[in-house]
Amino acid sequence: MEQRDIKSMELAELKEVVAGMGEKPFRGTQMYEWMHKKLCDGFDDMTNISGSFRQKCKEEFYFCHLETVDKLESVLDGTVKYLFELQDGNVIESVLMRYHHGNSVCISSQVGCRMGCRFCASTLGGLARNLTASEMLEQVYQIERLSGERVSNVVVMGTGEPLDNYDNLTRFIRMLTDENGVNISQRNVTVSTCGLVEGIRKLAQEKFSINLALSLHAPNDADRQKLMPIAVKYSLREIMKALDEYYRVTGRRLTFEYSLVAGVNDSPAQAKELAALVKGKNCLINLIPVNEVKEREFKRSAQESIQNFKNILEKNRINVTIRREMGSDINAACGQLRKSYTDRKKEQEVSRT
Ligand code: SAH
Repeated sequence: MEQRDIKSMELAELKEVVAGMGEKPFRGTQMYEWMHKKLCDGFDDMTNISGSFRQKCKEEFYFCHLETVDKLESVLDGTVKYLFELQDGNVIESVLMRYHHGNSVCISSQVGCRMGCRFCASTLGGLARNLTASEMLEQVYQIERLSGERVSNVVVMGTGEPLDNYDNLTRFIRMLTDENGVNISQRNVTVSTCGLVEGIRKLAQEKFSINLALSLHAPNDADRQKLMPIAVKYSLREIMKALDEYYRVTGRRLTFEYSLVAGVNDSPAQAKELAALVKGKNCLINLIPVNEVKEREFKRSAQESIQNFKNILEKNRINVTIRREMGSDINAACGQLRKSYTDRKKEQEVSRT
């Protein structure tokens, strides 16, 4: 019989499951705290649970754990990139960023991605599989264990399209922000999407107070389609309508991510068009100088074009920031650390045969 994934169970479910095994429901609460508050390493750490029940749990449940296979730390700003191995041998990337206002962790939501954005390294090998709630949670937990520091912000901006893994994502958010667990404030959680319209609408209905970021990258459909295949499926008009609804329901300020690619989306005309597109919205535009990926031909915009683009937005009274680059000396941009690891593995396999 396949073991059930105990760390993906929400508190109410866990209590029920435990009761079904003949224990008092409050054992479920104790176990939940061991896993999600005290971040224990296994059933044997649960000292207020009887030895015989712990034994039963070991047989019944899978206890999610991530193996740390690589770690790169920036000497410039203390940013740390982690490469974690999952139980099935797949590897994922997570990043710890240290800011003045606290520690932020960027997690992956899928192994690979099927969205195909042309400048992104995470999508090169396609989608392998979705991550479970426990695998998303463990990225945060393992970083707290390894760094010995508390994490206050979580951004779902690593590999994968979170709204393409909707049920696991929402379960993850509920558990991450549960007061019986690590209890991270929903206001400190951000989900970034390439713009899956049904997913945005559904997420609005969850009544979370999390932040939503849209990967915009162009001010009109034609330009956006050059960068993002998903832009063929959903028009900006539909996406903006869904975002307006998200804002109406949650009251959370929207973020638009805009990765600047030389000669593709960084002209003054495009800056003006962008200003018109978001005019009147409570939003922030986050300009990101594109990280060059060796498999992709796109080049980063010149410093001057970036500054000019920003100035035009500011003149139009749009909130705009240029994303501070964290860990530029360990520059394994979005998915590149994972990719170089899996490429290396493949080479080793070829040379062995
Ligand atoms: N799939 C989600 C979240 C993961 S990508 C999304 O699309 O939002 C996180 C952000 O990094 C997105 O804005 C994505 O477009 C951007 N990104 C990906 N590769 C990049 C690169 N090489 N340079 C700059 N930004 C990149």
